[in-house]
Amino acid sequence: MSDIKKNLEVIKEKIDRAAQKSGRKGTDITVIAVTKTIDVARINELISYGIQNIGENKAQELRDKYPQIDPSVNWHFIGHLQSNKIKYIIDKVKLIHSVDSEKLAYNINEAAKKHDKVMDILLQVNVAEDENKFGLSYKEVEPLLYKLKDLKNIRVRGLMTIVPYDEEAENNRLYFRRMKQLAVDIDNQNIDNISMEFLSMGMTNDFEIAIEEGSNMVRIGTGIFGARNYNM
Ligand SMILES: *Cc1c(COP(=O)(O)O)cnc(C)c1O
Repeated sequence: MSDIKKNLEVIKEKIDRAAQKSGRKGTDITVIAVTKTIDVARINELISYGIQNIGENKAQELRDKYPQIDPSVNWHFIGHLQSNKIKYIIDKVKLIHSVDSEKLAYNINEAAKKHDKVMDILLQVNVAEDENKFGLSYKEVEPLLYKLKDLKNIRVRGLMTIVPYDEEAENNRLYFRRMKQLAVDIDNQNIDNISMEFLSMGMTNDFEIAIEEGSNMVRIGTGIFGARNYNM
């Protein structure tokens, strides 16, 4: 069996176990395979094993790979997005996870309007207040939602976070718990056009804990493909 297939089976088992701990099923969790730096042959191999969602963090890389990848797959944009690069991805992606400013949200809305589509987005929250990470502060999220609710060509469908790497993933549990609480609090307000269906959190190092705390979208790269080679 190939390494990718083996890795995927191990991850699926871990997801099943973590989902059960939080009263859910493994199938309630969406696996987004993070394919940055991974060549198209390996991505298409992965898709042949049933993966339906892939994530890229650079707009040009996504644009360049797009025509070479099995068209059945859903693309997710998960990296920091500059407004001048929205045009590379707006007609290709299913969900943008990394909206971290009002300006970016407005610009995505404008680009989506040009393509006559409604773009689903998540707001990225810097829940750990890590200076090295992008994202809204916890307090900025709610006021921003009230500004975005009337835009016709974007729809906020949840929240995303990237927590600091910690060898001891257990140390990040409180951040994941805080994110879930924020999503519940927002949901309780029933804001027009805003839903909290998706909570995108958890990477190779900490996805089990993120799921235990309520994540339903995990973004996994290394755990599926092995260590990335940035010099290709
Ligand atoms: C690279 C990346 C991941 C995946 O990281 P791994 O540790 O390889 O699983 C997840 N989310 C984002 C935003 C990333 O850039």
